[in-house]
Amino acid sequence: MTPVTRFAPSPTGYLHLGHAHSALFAWRAAQDAGGRFLLRIEDVDKARCRPEFEAAILEDLAWLGLAWENPPLRQSERMADYADALDRLDRLGLLYPCFCTRKGIRAEIAGAARAPHGPEGPIYPGTCRSLSEDQRQERLAAGAAYARRLDVAAAVARAGPLSWTDRGAGEIAAEPLSLGDVVLARKEVATSYHLAVTLDDAAQGVTLVTRGADLFHTSHVHRLLQALLGLPVPEWHHHALIAGPDGERLAKRADALSIRALRQAGKTAAEVRALAGFPD
Ligand code: GLU
Repeated sequence: MTPVTRFAPSPTGYLHLGHAHSALFAWRAAQDAGGRFLLRIEDVDKARCRPEFEAAILEDLAWLGLAWENPPLRQSERMADYADALDRLDRLGLLYPCFCTRKGIRAEIAGAARAPHGPEGPIYPGTCRSLSEDQRQERLAAGAAYARRLDVAAAVARAGPLSWTDRGAGEIAAEPLSLGDVVLARKEVATSYHLAVTLDDAAQGVTLVTRGADLFHTSHVHRLLQALLGLPVPEWHHHALIAGPDGERLAKRADALSIRALRQAGKTAAEVRALAGFPD
């Protein structure tokens, strides 16, 4: 099987060394095995994405020496597929409308004696899961805005025990409940990171998913979605987050250590590749 790897940035800012590490890892993994390297622009959140960041991403990756199959896939072109998958999950009875606001959820968690927690902090307490059908219909009829959440317990019951393989950590038992009832479509955006990334990796035939360790726990949910939707299961590589010279996480100072800033400060592409963990 020809390996297919990808880099999937969101054009919401400039690429930094952590992104460069992800992209270089995926690119080299494809090159070493005579495989294909794909680029996907994750641009569903129109409020946060900017064309100038997309242009900068393409320019920075080319400057770093990477080549990908053209044209890159844009998630904004795939909304019909996301809608179709949502319909399938809905027909399985695994989605429910959630009318909670972010503020409402925070208040509910703050007021709860024991709020359920996941690896990323408190998780959605499931408020709208327990609404009766009448209550749901009443709110929908009143035109209330809602997100669509996956009933993860019901989904796990349907899918049964699952596992997935991380290159570093080996075989892992899937624990999708740890993130709670994740949002699969938002009020403003008719999909979510979880749904779009899972469907796209399958549609593009990706065999190795590369991303930072900060997204490790999301892979449990993606594995569950693959099982529910009958999608192929790739291998994952979650890499340690690249720290700045003072050990601080890069995302917080992305501007200072963007590929762009390093380049403007006179670093060569080879030097930036080395800073990203890939000396020539
Ligand atoms: N688009 C996501 C990001 O830029 C990463 C997608 C992924 O690799 O799963 O953080």
